[in-house]
Amino acid sequence: MKTGTNRNRFNLKLQKKRLLRELEQLNSSCNLDKKEERDVSFQSRIEIADATTEFEKNLALDAFKRTNQSRIELALKKIDDGTYGICDYCGNSIDPARLEILPYANVCINCCRNDSLPEKVKKD
Ligand SMILES: [Zn+2]
Repeated sequence: MKTGTNRNRFNLKLQKKRLLRELEQLNSSCNLDKKEERDVSFQSRIEIADATTEFEKNLALDAFKRTNQSRIELALKKIDDGTYGICDYCGNSIDPARLEILPYANVCINCCRNDSLPEKVKKD
């Protein structure tokens, strides 16, 4: 067996750990938000206008978290399927350095920079 294969497998384990930790962090920050939401209900009526803005901000944050969570879960599924690190669009392998920064990247840097690709493909 080649050393490269072993190293790849090791990296996948490492990436999986990182992704699981990110999921945990996302979930724990969600719990913090719930506590904040409860605090908001104790605010005076005058502050409700502000709370609405805060609520909208939370909604946006929530959407962001959900997107990230689904992307992390997709990356974990890809690790199990053995398709992790392969560009969703062109099928080339994604630069390991890119995966280092963005463990749940689903497209390669070339596709990400390609302006003719639909926006939804390049979520990074
Ligand atoms: Zn690509």
